[in-house]
Amino acid sequence: MGPILVFVETAAGGISDESGELLGRAQVLGEALGRPVVALAFGPQARGALAGEAVAEAVCVQGEGTEAYHPEVWARAAVAVAKERGPSLVLLGNTTAGMDLSTALAPALGMPLVAYCARLEVADGGLVATSRAYGGKLFADVRLPEGGAVVTFLPGGGPAARPAGSPGAVTETAAGPASQVTLARRIEPEAAGDVDITRADILVSVGRGIQDPDNIPLAQELADALGGVVSCSRPVVDAGWLPRSRQVGKSGKTVKPRLYLALGISGAPEHLQGMRDAELIVAINSDPSAPIFEVAHYGATVDALELLPALTERLARGSA
Ligand SMILES: Cc1cc2nc3c(=O)[nH]c(=O)nc-3n(C[C@H](O)[C@H](O)[C@H](O)COP(=O)(O)OP(=O)(O)OC[C@H]3O[C@@H](n4cnc5c(N)ncnc54)[C@H](O)[C@@H]3O)c2cc1C
Repeated sequence: MGPILVFVETAAGGISDESGELLGRAQVLGEALGRPVVALAFGPQARGALAGEAVAEAVCVQGEGTEAYHPEVWARAAVAVAKERGPSLVLLGNTTAGMDLSTALAPALGMPLVAYCARLEVADGGLVATSRAYGGKLFADVRLPEGGAVVTFLPGGGPAARPAGSPGAVTETAAGPASQVTLARRIEPEAAGDVDITRADILVSVGRGIQDPDNIPLAQELADALGGVVSCSRPVVDAGWLPRSRQVGKSGKTVKPRLYLALGISGAPEHLQGMRDAELIVAINSDPSAPIFEVAHYGATVDALELLPALTERLARGSA
């Protein structure tokens, strides 16, 4: 059986959080299935980033077009590396680069592609992937064929730690001929902002029901009292009331806090996609038929603008 090939993305000189999770998953699966893990990374940071990973082989692609994601250069090199190693499974993050590369790798390797994968488990000697479809409305279990598959993983839920060590071998490989395609401009993601909502244990999340930017401090005060962070739905970002880094949902971040307090959020599928895996969801909405109540563990049909200051005050009294 061929190795498990993991596409690793680098960030700030190290490995991105998503790729760290992927490597952890690959180690667990590799051990269960008796298959080695091969990590593939691009650019000048690749070697250093993979130096602390206990993988059988670290493949570092170097050369023109590897410093930042280049669809053509990276796809060509990834396909070449994969074809040489003959993987039985290819794991990528469900990131922009991961999704893009997966669509080049799957046909080139003659493997099916399982996207939006939330779980991948060994069952009856094979692998079963759980893929999240239709914006999280449906979970599909698919048994991977023996010939292998390319899988893109949603962030979150990976093992908390992975074994430390160093690669059994480090292979440097050239990216190949320069591309005919010149990228005109890279649009950098917005600055992450002051907080990373994907790491917060408690999120006080506001929707259009907050009604006015002047009411955002009410949510911030409650978040402070709870030791949490303020996040929001998309209309709040579109109105310019909070930065995009705080947006939860399909076109925002996927979060999995211990507590998600949804205030004045209707529960559109695009929002639910980003928060339905929270451990505890408490919804506050003045409309009893709001769909958010379908995923909430607890709910109250009250005016969020009245509840917010009252709750903050109660918490302050409780801790005094
Ligand atoms: C391609 C695409 C991507 C998208 N991506 C995202 C995304 O990433 N994240 C996201 O959130 N949305 C996203 N959307 C938008 C999504 O479809 C919804 O429009 C959005 O989630 C609605 O936000 P909301 O719940 O804040 O607003 P609304 O749907 O307007 O809901 C406001 C809620 O507040 C309640 N309310 C009003 N006043 C009060 C009050 N005083 N007290 C209590 N409750 C009150 C109302 O009853 C209502 O339920 C996307 C849409 C598309 C098409």
